[in-house]
Amino acid sequence: MSLGERLAEVDARIADRLRSLGRTDPVTRIVITKNHPYELVRDLYALGVRDFGENRDQEAKPKAQQLAAEGLSQDVQWHFVGQLQSNKAKSVISYANVIHSLDRESLLDALIKATVDSPARTKVFVQVNLTDDLERGGVNPDELLSMADRIAATESLQLLGVMAVGGLGIDPRIEFERVARLRERLVRQHPDANFISAGMSGDFEVALEYGATHLRIGTAITGNRNH
Ligand SMILES: *Cc1c(COP(=O)(O)O)cnc(C)c1O
Repeated sequence: MSLGERLAEVDARIADRLRSLGRTDPVTRIVITKNHPYELVRDLYALGVRDFGENRDQEAKPKAQQLAAEGLSQDVQWHFVGQLQSNKAKSVISYANVIHSLDRESLLDALIKATVDSPARTKVFVQVNLTDDLERGGVNPDELLSMADRIAATESLQLLGVMAVGGLGIDPRIEFERVARLRERLVRQHPDANFISAGMSGDFEVALEYGATHLRIGTAITGNRNH
């Protein structure tokens, strides 16, 4: 299958599932282009993709800059989805519109500092850790609300909602159910923070059942990565 065919197939599966769920709210399909060359980004742009995701600053930045240099940045949104070192915050906010992986207070400190003079608000998801494994990225569910309060009090940031990375080795439904409940808790205090970033190549249809609004899809569209 060609790139265009894989993209069309994934989009058809998303549309089918939304239809069967009776969902009419907007869903953002982000194509994760990590470990693929810049040319793939340009090809996806030609196919109509406008939301791109990357997980490393040193790879994302040149791609974002190249796309802009070619005059193709109209309506493009860059989503940063990977672990972010605080000392890279300034660099990432120079091109990323949305940061999905705000996973600790110290990174929030860095983002507040980095965005203080920025003209546009940087959108963020708080990444939650749904496991008992403290080594995994993400804040504990208990910390979510205090972090949300801090973000809401920051002019230069806009809280979109919660983000989770799957792969607990358990039924993804259990995990998506937890995310959905955290969203409910969050919107009671922050009504606009009602988005969920969840769902990847292997489970995006299930994620949609639990209210996912931002799907982060890599290999199902891009094919296998180089590494
Ligand atoms: C790579 C990546 C994805 C996409 O994974 P696929 O299984 O290739 O769809 C989604 N989210 C994050 C955080 C990633 O790093």
